[in-house]
Amino acid sequence: MDLTGLHLLLTYQCTLQCDHCFVFGGPWQEGTMSLDVIENILQQGKKLGTVNTIYFEGGEPFLYYPTLLRGVEMAYEMGYNVGLVSNGFWGISEEDAFRALSPMQGKVSMLSLSCDQYHWDNRFEEYIANIEKVAEELGINTGVITIAQPEAADAPKSSGTIPTGESQVMFRGRAAVELTDNVNLFPWDKFDSCPHEDFIDPGRIHIDPLGYLHICQGITIGNLLEKPLDQIWADYDAHTHPITSPMLKGGPSELARKYGAEHAEEYADACHLCFKVRESLRDKFPVELGPDQMYIEFD
Ligand code: SF4
Repeated sequence: MDLTGLHLLLTYQCTLQCDHCFVFGGPWQEGTMSLDVIENILQQGKKLGTVNTIYFEGGEPFLYYPTLLRGVEMAYEMGYNVGLVSNGFWGISEEDAFRALSPMQGKVSMLSLSCDQYHWDNRFEEYIANIEKVAEELGINTGVITIAQPEAADAPKSSGTIPTGESQVMFRGRAAVELTDNVNLFPWDKFDSCPHEDFIDPGRIHIDPLGYLHICQGITIGNLLEKPLDQIWADYDAHTHPITSPMLKGGPSELARKYGAEHAEEYADACHLCFKVRESLRDKFPVELGPDQMYIEFD
């Protein structure tokens, strides 16, 4: 199994506090990567030998622009393909967008922009349009990620990294808390597999500002500030990890069954059950089910 992509959550902080956010991003969240941590991760990626792509995301990575810019430069200089994910709050005018993006020209190959009804107000559409126009002039590819409203059951489903274009909301993180009131619910034991993540050969992994590697947001397989990435990766076995092992056998319903977790009778989707069960198991697995930023609102 080759790990080819590292997705760095540059910060847990965000300008917004969207209901559908997987990671409880918001203005009061804590945790931002310093440049030496970014450099350390990039070097560890090189040492692993299979990583070719680095994404900077969050939270909102443009909140820490000097750190983001230097991180992009370092990743590019080390030979990685570099991508960014942003909510576009900085595209106030074409000139603002140009000032932010032009130093990254030739270094960033993909800029994914989140734009949907969860994000602020209509100004965001204008900001995204400014950024798309400038990015095209600079030769930076863009794609817009749009998450459908919770009731839109006919929106396309996604798997792994959220695709550009419209896709269904996944009820994990803040979405599991904020968006499940008026949606259809289904029996808990129907959710007998994870529909989104490949635990055995994930291809890409998220790394948060505290150093944790997340196989899915809130399920950690190690901390690369404590143990080198190549060792964590060599030691990781989805069949013995206490969370992914039952998930592989029977999804979130098996996770609940194996550890006798209390649960309701019905859930919106597999992620909803998974998140709620994991939340209830955090005392038992404080490292594998962390950190707080993936489970708790900071305000
Ligand atoms: S079912 Fe659980 S592990 Fe799978 S994508 Fe949803 S939240 Fe992540």
